[in-house]
Amino acid sequence: MCDECAVGLSRYGSRRGFLKAGGMLALGTCLSGLASLPAAAKALAQGVSGEEALKRLVQGNARYAANRPQQRDFSASRAARVTSQAPFASILSCADSRVAPELAFDRGPGELFVVRVAGNFVNEDGLASLEYGAEVLGSQLILVLGHSNCGAVDATIKVVETKAQLPGHLPSLIDAIRPAVLAAQKEGAADLLKAATIANVRQNVERLKSATPILSQRAADNRLKVVGGVYDLASGKVELV
Ligand SMILES: [Zn+2]
Repeated sequence: MCDECAVGLSRYGSRRGFLKAGGMLALGTCLSGLASLPAAAKALAQGVSGEEALKRLVQGNARYAANRPQQRDFSASRAARVTSQAPFASILSCADSRVAPELAFDRGPGELFVVRVAGNFVNEDGLASLEYGAEVLGSQLILVLGHSNCGAVDATIKVVETKAQLPGHLPSLIDAIRPAVLAAQKEGAADLLKAATIANVRQNVERLKSATPILSQRAADNRLKVVGGVYDLASGKVELV
């Protein structure tokens, strides 16, 4: 977000009625600037299909799991990244410190557009970010990435089973993940944590595919592929689910 836009939004929040028009004008200026990213950068991302992007992630994860990552010069292309970005894939990942998408897929700066929240579920801000990744930056793949031993899913199971009360804003995480736990319970899964983790990934894949107006349209036009995966903490491997 540009300075002008941030200023406009901050004013909008503090003096809503009087400055609404000015704030919206500033936001419009900012978004039009984003939409006019250098054509070459946009074309670069849009040249990578969802299939090809997924192939790159799978290959990168195989290198990571085998502890054979590519050698990288992080200073290379740094100057070019100042003015544009063209990530070929978007990731909706858990915030867990043990799951690092750029490392897990052996990718460098500028290659992945990553949204992270504990429990890797879609909320309004995350959805808006992923819409930006697709519509403005040209990413044609979104991967929802859950993982084994997820504390957010495990906490949700405990709340569902014991009706425990969590402090602060934690109940909002529980509410978002609860449908997956209920679905896994209904299946009668032997490993409830594993089943709920997979259900949570699948439910959020479906939510993104059907999110109107941007993602659903792009998916219908074959300009967006949405898939799910689970990262195994023990092996470092991502299994598509
Ligand atoms: Zn987690």
